[in-house]
Formats: sequence, structure tokens, C-alpha cells
Amino acid sequence: MVSIAYSSRYKYELPDGHRFPMDKYELLPEQLLYEGTISAGQLFEPSRLSRDIVLRTHTESYFYALMHDHLSGKEKRKIGFPVRKELVERGLHIAQGTLTCALRALHGGIGLNIAGGTHHAYADHGEGFCVFNDFAIAANQLLFEGLCKQILIVDLDVHQGNGTARIFEGRSQVFTFSMHGAKNYPAKKEKSDLDIALNDRTGDHLYLDILDSVIPKLIKEVKPDIIFYLAGADVLESDALGRLSLSKAGTKQRDRIILENCIKHDIPVAVCMGGGYSPKIRDVVDVHANTFRVAVNLYT
Ligand SMILES: [Zn+2]
Repeated sequence: MVSIAYSSRYKYELPDGHRFPMDKYELLPEQLLYEGTISAGQLFEPSRLSRDIVLRTHTESYFYALMHDHLSGKEKRKIGFPVRKELVERGLHIAQGTLTCALRALHGGIGLNIAGGTHHAYADHGEGFCVFNDFAIAANQLLFEGLCKQILIVDLDVHQGNGTARIFEGRSQVFTFSMHGAKNYPAKKEKSDLDIALNDRTGDHLYLDILDSVIPKLIKEVKPDIIFYLAGADVLESDALGRLSLSKAGTKQRDRIILENCIKHDIPVAVCMGGGYSPKIRDVVDVHANTFRVAVNLYT
């Protein structure tokens, strides 16, 4: 079964001139419905994450500051979006979307969130367009409820999953794997359980070769009850921030490698979108849409 989290709240109004491609959150489901890859019945609207669940991952002081507009100017600038009530609400709905995707995946199949993958958020602060760390929130909740014993995070956004790495540092129940551009943001990387830092212009061939050999080994070693997969579109050759030079066919094959391994080893998977900053929004949407096309093809 394929479940897809989507809410109209995912698109956040940004001031003129802001270069974040916010329209993708509207265009992606539109495109997928239009071409018939997904049906309206597969979409569900996430509710708002509860305070209790947030506080299993984030500090009370950070959550309080977000809810009461007490972040300093510096803390707000680090997030990169204008911080308003709607942004906080958006983050709470996205994180609930990721959690529900994971819960649905545990009941069989795959859950995909039209947004999420906010891996730069730490327990006590946000950064890099990330307010709450949705993977960490969902993983901590599954462990808290006793639904999983072992979790594997596969972060293939072009930027290192620094917030996720730090949150789960020293926590053996969550294995963090990040494959990213060595010279990309964040300048100061954290230590994931496994980091593979790639050179600029790595390209499809080497990237896919590495992934092909690493993923089966990780699954064997970690024996995860669920995988969280961050399918960032910013590995694409046209990306303004990425530097890895993957083609669209390469990113599609990347998605296929992850999902085929999940199916082969019967591991539930929750997928989030992450970044994508190509100058033409259709390229960003196309890479994200490919993730859904591969998923629907493999899971139905
Ligand atoms: Zn990114």
C-alpha cells in the first residue's frame, strides 16, 4: 500500500525575492494526480503534532520560543525563513505527516510525505530551512511507543544531515547514514554513524556504485525495523546549491536502489522530499515525482 501525506499548509508564503522553491509543495501533488501516478484516495492530510511528541526530540525552551515568538534575530536568521506562527504550524503538520507515514508503513507498504526531511534542525535550534527535525521526531516516537527497536536513517540529500546526526549521537537504536557533498553546507559537519562525503561532480556512476554496495551491508548490519529515507532533489546536476552532478535518470536509480532493498528485505520505509534548488522548478518537481513514480511502480 502507498500512503501519501499532504496538506495545503506545506506551502508557506514567502516574501518577494526569496529564492526557496516553495511552489513545489503544490506542484508536486498536482503533477502526480494529473499524470495518474497517484490517486486522491492515497492522500491523507496530517493533523498537528502534539506538544508531548515534539518534546521527545526538541528542548522545551526551543519549543516555547517558537510558540511565543521569543527566538532572537540570530536564531531566526539561522532558520532562513521569516519565522511566523504559520511556519511553526506548518512544521508541526509536516512532522506529523512523517510520523503517520512511518506508522502506515509499519502496517505494510510505504509512506511518502510531500514535504519533510528537515534534517538540519537540532534539538535546541533550527537552521537551513528546518524548524523541527521530522525524522528524529518520528523515530523517537516509534521507539517510545515500542513499535520499533532499531531504526536506519538513509539521508541522501546533498547536504549532511547534521541535526539528525547530533540528535542521535550515542543512541544505538538509531543508525544515521548520510551521503552528501563534502564541500556543501553545513560547513561544520556532525558525525553520523556513517558519513560518506563526496567530491564535487561525483556523477551517476560512482554515486550509484557506492550506494549499491553500502545499502545491503547497512541493512545486514543494522537490521532495521524501519528505514527513513530522505530523497533530496538537490543532488541533481542543475541544482544551484548541490555539486554532485547526478542526472535525473541517476536520481531515479538512486530511489530504486533504496526501495528495492526495502522490498527485498521486507523493511517498511517512510520517505521525505528534502531539498531541491534547480533554477527551473519543473526539474525539482520532476526529481521528486520520480521518487513517487518508482515507489508506485514497486509497491502496487
Ligand atoms: Zn539539501
